[in-house]
Amino acid sequence: MKSLHLKAGRDKSVRRRHPWIFSGAVERVDGSPGTGETVLVKAKGQPVALAAWSPKSQICARVWSFNTSDSIDKSFISGKVNQAVSFRASLQIAGHSNALRLVHGESDGLPGLIVDRYGDVLVAQFLAAGAEHWREVILDALAAATGCEAIYERSDAEVRALEGLQPRTGWARTAGAESPAVRGDRDAGRCAIVEYGLHFRVDVAGGQKTGFFLDQRDNRQRIRALAQGREVLDAFCYTGGFSVAALAGGARHVTAVDSSAPALEVARENVGANAFDPSRISFQQADVFAYQRQLRDNGSRFGLVVLDPPKFAPTAAQVKNAARAYKDINLMALKLLAPGGLLATFSCSGGVSAELFQSIVAGAAADAGADAKIIERYGAAADHPVALGFPEGDYLKGLLLVRT
Ligand code: SAH
Repeated sequence: MKSLHLKAGRDKSVRRRHPWIFSGAVERVDGSPGTGETVLVKAKGQPVALAAWSPKSQICARVWSFNTSDSIDKSFISGKVNQAVSFRASLQIAGHSNALRLVHGESDGLPGLIVDRYGDVLVAQFLAAGAEHWREVILDALAAATGCEAIYERSDAEVRALEGLQPRTGWARTAGAESPAVRGDRDAGRCAIVEYGLHFRVDVAGGQKTGFFLDQRDNRQRIRALAQGREVLDAFCYTGGFSVAALAGGARHVTAVDSSAPALEVARENVGANAFDPSRISFQQADVFAYQRQLRDNGSRFGLVVLDPPKFAPTAAQVKNAARAYKDINLMALKLLAPGGLLATFSCSGGVSAELFQSIVAGAAADAGADAKIIERYGAAADHPVALGFPEGDYLKGLLLVRT
């Protein structure tokens, strides 16, 4: 088999079962493997892993298996897909929602593959050369494991370019023309899902990422439990996940802010889908940074603020600017809190650790002159597992603060 030889002293990470091999750690590659082809990774001449070769990327190989007697073939890949799908079926959430993350990339042993299920539709992202190489096998295995005949592909994330792959979107598998799965809402690219009894529309074709932020599911439930009687600000609301949860939890009123008009359009539909009184929510298409200042200048006060911004720092390189942005929005949010008010603040930046995030928020509170305490900590829901060897999988962190 074609082989990849690690430089002396550069095998520590793979021995700790980290699935990424960086080009800087590679001594040489024998046998000219093609993009996505499996290579045997060797350290000091000994086999240590089987990985997918991705010559264009700085992450030039992603590990399929640390057991070098495995064969990376159709049955191995299908087996991983089956394992990921049956693990979700064992989770408690499977009884409360028909929308789940079925495959969470590296942490499910399928590097570069993301699959979300929205009712009877799957949305898949092939984000690395290895996943792309096995695309047909993966699609067949997904259809077989779930019984879902409709699979939409959203391989349009920027990271694909780093792998030298062109974006690809559209139906990768369609159900028969007469099947209910291709009629109605789905034709417009909208899937209807239910999460803990709440209804959402997911725009799988035009929405962000795969259309919905399933990782925040448990945290939406917390907001629902905390919202009773409160004046709520949902900043970076996207399609209104937290807003709908807050309304369900008895919020007096929600102000939902996002810069994206299409996201707000779906958010409005989501409020309607749950038959909430529309006068309990107002939508603002605005830049949160500017809008929070406007609210402060108007003297607005909130009993609960949710801050769920986009990834300001996808990697460590952007951390400095990201820290400034996180500090700014948290500082303003703390100023907008009434005494006894709650701030649920999140970061999904891989480049910002939980410790750093907490220290940024602490700096924001100090500068705001606000006395605040952490009362809860949040992460991603259980259908987004984190392999112990892959701490990068632990990207979402959140704090619940009370302003005293
Ligand atoms: N809370 C949402 C997910 C938020 S995703 C949920 O649970 O579903 C981040 C959102 O921030 C996106 O909808 C994006 O349109 C929006 N966004 C990005 N930059 C923004 C800005 N400066 N002001 C307002 N919204 C912004």
